[in-house]
Amino acid sequence: MYDLIIIGAGPAGITAAVYAARKRMSLLVITKDIGGQAALSGDIENYTGYQFITGPDLAAKFEEHMRKFEIALKENEEVIELKKIEDKVWVKTNKSAYETNITGIFAAGDVTDVPEKQIITAAGEGAKAALSAFRYLSQHQFTT
Ligand SMILES: Cc1cc2nc3c(=O)[nH]c(=O)nc-3n(C[C@H](O)[C@H](O)[C@H](O)COP(=O)(O)OP(=O)(O)OC[C@H]3O[C@@H](n4cnc5c(N)ncnc54)[C@H](O)[C@@H]3O)c2cc1C
Repeated sequence: MYDLIIIGAGPAGITAAVYAARKRMSLLVITKDIGGQAALSGDIENYTGYQFITGPDLAAKFEEHMRKFEIALKENEEVIELKKIEDKVWVKTNKSAYETNITGIFAAGDVTDVPEKQIITAAGEGAKAALSAFRYLSQHQFTT
């Protein structure tokens, strides 16, 4: 069981995973791929800190950062259903089902519908999601 299940490993999901791991939360990342749309971008010229980087290179940097932490990762797996049974949340995929140990679920990824959403915005959303999950769990049952 996990405190947090993150669906997707684009810039948002990976950033959420890094922030959650730094807060010592037990987490699982389930994703169809690593890098998301960022891995498909050709030339990126607007990500702070990099005057120029290709999408695949930036996605590789994101992945390298995430893999510095011991994070459970299910790759090439697609979430097909979210189910709440009593106080548990089940995340069903095309291969298995996983459980969080709390009521409610936090998701990071392209859940916001922002026109022309950018990588830096997505990463910020991921950070916000992980920090709000941490605050919630700290106020309820989570202890480090
Ligand atoms: C061609 C192109 C060029 C771009 N150029 C730029 C640029 O130059 N600069 C810039 O800042 N932005 C650019 N963008 C936009 C940028 O790539 C996105 O804003 C960013 O990737 C969004 O990140 P995200 O993590 O929110 O979502 P995504 O990158 O869409 O990641 C979503 C993740 O969720 C996973 N996922 C989705 N559904 C499921 C499911 N059911 N089960 C499991 N996993 C799932 C996906 O596999 C993926 O890993 C470009 C986008 C494209 C397509």
